[in-house]
Amino acid sequence: MVIDATGLTKTYRTVVAVDELTLRVSPGEIHALLGLNGAGKTTTFRMLLGMIRPTRGRVCVLGEPVRPGARALWSRVGYLVETPSAYPELTVVENLRVIARLRGLRGEKAIREVVARLELEACAHQRARTLSLGNAQRLGLAKALVHRPELLILDEPANGLDPAGVAGIRQLLHELARSDGVTVLLSSHLLAEVARLAARIGVLDHGHLVWEGPTADLVARSRPRLTVDAQDRGRAAAVLRSAGHAVEFDDEHGLTLTGERAIRRPGEVAELLVHAGCPPTRLAVTQDDLETAFLDLVGAR
Ligand code: ATP
Repeated sequence: MVIDATGLTKTYRTVVAVDELTLRVSPGEIHALLGLNGAGKTTTFRMLLGMIRPTRGRVCVLGEPVRPGARALWSRVGYLVETPSAYPELTVVENLRVIARLRGLRGEKAIREVVARLELEACAHQRARTLSLGNAQRLGLAKALVHRPELLILDEPANGLDPAGVAGIRQLLHELARSDGVTVLLSSHLLAEVARLAARIGVLDHGHLVWEGPTADLVARSRPRLTVDAQDRGRAAAVLRSAGHAVEFDDEHGLTLTGERAIRRPGEVAELLVHAGCPPTRLAVTQDDLETAFLDLVGAR
């Protein structure tokens, strides 16, 4: 495992920011942590990077226990946590030179490569304080990548990027994972984006990992259902129930059927209602998107 965290916990006085988190990330995998604001994503990343000390639990990164001063490890890891900071009066290239030197790199080759990879050529000699949000984020990513790390830990890497920029980062991360075997752990609020990027997803809610698994399984959780409305909802519900359908019923949405029979053969449901003298005014099979499945998991819907 590239990341192997067990029982990771961080408490601040009365707040349990991360609670007994177990997280395993395999080599070359793109793994995403999803969570609403305050779910504990940044705290988790900071513990994985040794920036804060866990209250309990243990973390190994690239086979080594994380502890302050374990410097050898950090030459193999690139990270972007929270808002990227740069020296505001230095240009993009000068900022990268500082980082490259700290990473023990010599020469300009690595800098030229990372500037090209992040499409920063046009602003290479612009002072960091004058960069657009998107280019400041690109510079943050360039700093994480300049030493060609084996593991990338990225907090909201698509933050501030326009749709073309988001697509560019997706392509870059796919390429790094596929051709260079880089392992990526990222967090994001862009759920549709995460579904296209990550092979596995962990969902954090109030510090708890409430779900973890392949992205496809999270998508599959979004269950299909048949929604039905009729002039007389009470009667329609009674008719359908007496025909053996499980029916949920509320004033806002009308009738909802989740049974396989109803979803496979909505026509039968319509016929039943027509024959009973309360024809449907609306009948539709719908399926949640990933966002809805996620909000269901964290109980925010
Ligand atoms: P966001 O998406 O908003 O960045 P997050 O998932 O990254 O949220 P964290 O920043 O990890 O969440 O915060 C988790 C919880 O821990 C929050 O309730 C936060 O207020 C609390 N917390 C984080 N750092 C501290 C701290 N230094 N002192 C006290 N509480 C903290």
